Order: sequence, then structure tokens, then C-alpha cells
Amino acid sequence: MVTFHIITIFPKMFASYLNEGVLGRAVNKKKKIKINFYNPRDFVKNKHKKVDDSPYGGGPGMVMMAEPILKAWQKAKGKKKKVKTIILSPRGKLFTNLYGRRILDEYRHIILISGRYEGLDARIKKVTKGEEISIGQYVLSGGELPALVLIDAISRQVKGVLGDFSSVEENRISSGELYTRPREIKYKNKKYKVPEVLISGYHRKIDEWREKRQ
Ligand code: SAM
Repeated sequence: MVTFHIITIFPKMFASYLNEGVLGRAVNKKKKIKINFYNPRDFVKNKHKKVDDSPYGGGPGMVMMAEPILKAWQKAKGKKKKVKTIILSPRGKLFTNLYGRRILDEYRHIILISGRYEGLDARIKKVTKGEEISIGQYVLSGGELPALVLIDAISRQVKGVLGDFSSVEENRISSGELYTRPREIKYKNKKYKVPEVLISGYHRKIDEWREKRQ
């Protein structure tokens, strides 16, 4: 079982994605993945549940305050010894499948800190020793989508999340071109057929064909 601890001020954003398809089955049926949420707003005492403030030294936008996030992080971490903390950031190291696999080799608890506004108070990184990870060279409005991207990609590599066949296939040959029924479709008077080799039943030839198209 792998547990993702998500620190976010928008926990409701996650439900529909995490409860459907492969991930939904992994969480609800197979119990291979567990998801916990920690909302920094639950850790502030002020009346308006404010978790952001203007930046010292001036500048545009607001900054997420360190204390509410650090309290949420402490709650997520509890007394667990081996916990990986990841801070979602467009300036971080680019996420890859290989990175995900390495995390899984070492950790069963992964804390994901989703930023909002202009980003996080820098002391959050200093205290948590979190690693900044980006999902691509573009800026999104928050770390919630990036957190979902990591959860999805990492969960697919947890044993038992994909069926045996799919996980073997995923590591083996995946073709850039996939076809299913019907064998022929028509668009604007032109016919588009499934390549003959895929219907031939010769698995060696099919593998060769797929390899060429990777
Ligand atoms: N200028 C800010 C910066 O460089 O961090 C942009 C902050 S962005 C509007 C708000 C939050 O969205 C970030 O703190 C981060 O958590 C998340 N975010 C945005 N783009 C991201 C990306 N490409 N990868 C990972 N996280 C991202």
C-alpha cells in the first residue's frame, strides 16, 4: 500500500479524478493506494481562514504562509520515519516515470504540497527538505493538477494497480499506433484500414511492426 498525503486548500478538486478508472479501482477496490488530505485552512485560527499574505520586499501577488502548511505537513508526517516530501513547483526538477519508480523503491508515504497564488514561503522548503518537482515548462494556477499527475503516474507503477498483463505490456512494447474495431472506417470518401499485419495473427511480425513504430 502506498499513501499519498496531499496538502491543498482545494481538496474537493481531487475527488472526481481519483474515484474513476484505474485509480478509482486502486483506491476503492484493490486498496493499493490511499489518499489523505490536509487543508492548511484547518490549521489557522483567524476568522477568515486566511493562508496567504503579501510578500516581504514587495512584488505582485500573494504568498502562501509557512505556518499553516508546516502544521499540515507535520500532521501528514506524524511519527513515520520514511516519508518523501515533494513540493509542486514550475521551477522544480522535471517529473519522469523513472523518478516515480525511484521514489517507490524507497518510500511508502509521499507528501505532495500544492501551492497557490504566487507560490510558497521559501521556509517551507527549508523546514520540510522537500524536493521541488515540476510537471512541465508552463505555469498552472495551482499544484492540484500536478499532484494528480504524479499520483496517477506513480500509482501505475505500484504492484497490483494495473492488471498483470497491462503492467507487463507497459514496460514492454507499446506502439505509437493503436487500432480497434472496425477494420475499416470511411471519412470524406476515403477509406482508413487497420494494417494487415495486426490481423495476421503472427505475433513475431506484430512485435516487429510495433517496435518500428515506437
Ligand atoms: N511564479 C510562481 C512560481 O514560479 O512558483 C507561480 C506560482 S503558480 C501560479 C501556483 C502554484 O501552482 C505553484 O506554487 C505550484 O505549486 C503550482 N504549479 C504551477 N505550475 C506548475 C508546474 N508546471 N509544475 C508543478 N507545479 C506547478
